[in-house]
Amino acid sequence: MTHRVFVIGHPIAHSRSPMMQNYWIARHGVDAVYDKLDIAPADLADFFRAFRAEPYIGANVTIPHKLAVIPFVDRTDGAAQAMGAVNCLWWDGAALVGGNTDALGFLGNIDAAAPGWDAGGKHAVVMGAGGASRAAIYGLLSRGFAVSLCNRTLDKAVALARHFGAGVTAHGLDAVPDLLVTADVVVNTTSLGMIGQPPLDLDLAPMKPDAVAYDIVYVPLETAFLARARARGLRTVDGLGMLLHQGVVGFDHWFGQRPDVTPDLRALLENDIRAKTPGA
Ligand code: NAP
Repeated sequence: MTHRVFVIGHPIAHSRSPMMQNYWIARHGVDAVYDKLDIAPADLADFFRAFRAEPYIGANVTIPHKLAVIPFVDRTDGAAQAMGAVNCLWWDGAALVGGNTDALGFLGNIDAAAPGWDAGGKHAVVMGAGGASRAAIYGLLSRGFAVSLCNRTLDKAVALARHFGAGVTAHGLDAVPDLLVTADVVVNTTSLGMIGQPPLDLDLAPMKPDAVAYDIVYVPLETAFLARARARGLRTVDGLGMLLHQGVVGFDHWFGQRPDVTPDLRALLENDIRAKTPGA
């Protein structure tokens, strides 16, 4: 029987998950197909009825359903609990699990792109306190980092720092220049630098030369922040890699095999981004 896997969201047309997952499905010779499904919030209960009746093997979950799916699963994993969001569904025996693979994607990407990045100092500066920053914070805490969380709206940083507890301090974006001096990793999780948004304008000169700059924005493929970090001689990590590495974790949950993030696959997604986004 051909297994069926989905990404559900509303809207969903932009999702690159089918391109990525179907590439691995073909490479691994798995009898499965991965589709995107536009599910309006009012249709979520019907989706889960069908999901359990078939049963489907798994799914990714994206905006606006990352919180709304929680009542429909049998349990959530530790990452989903810590992040307050589910982005992946899989079966553990008869139990439908709602998990979150973003932090493992965040870590898998930096492990691959900047080997040994977490071996030395342990101070990270994370800019942005929206949905995506939670994966960065959770991942960095799991590797023993102290996190300075900086956000335009200070209240949001304070609330998120309180949510994670010890190990995270909250600051405004005005604190970033001073915090960069001791940073081993600096991560942009704001939408600054995305196509259509202003660039993240940051002087990286005070940073330690062996520090790592990580931008989770991936349209454009190289943001001005990363270009500047590269010119400064820092190791850089981009957002497309995070997307690819979180996909690895989902595939492993569904099919019990860990696929590789190959240059071919990366090129496939890069070409798609360039084709659909002039200037990316
Ligand atoms: P979000 O929840 O809307 O959060 C946006 C963040 O950006 C907030 O901290 C916001 O600050 C900040 N921000 C927006 N405009 C700003 C400005 N002009 N100046 C300073 N700060 C500004 O968005 P998200 O879901 O976290 O996504 C953020 C980015 O990450 C997007 O570009 C998204 O595409 C990318 N992303 C990448 C991956 C991946 O796999 N690579 C995964 C998820 C998301 P305030 O709180 O002050 O509004």
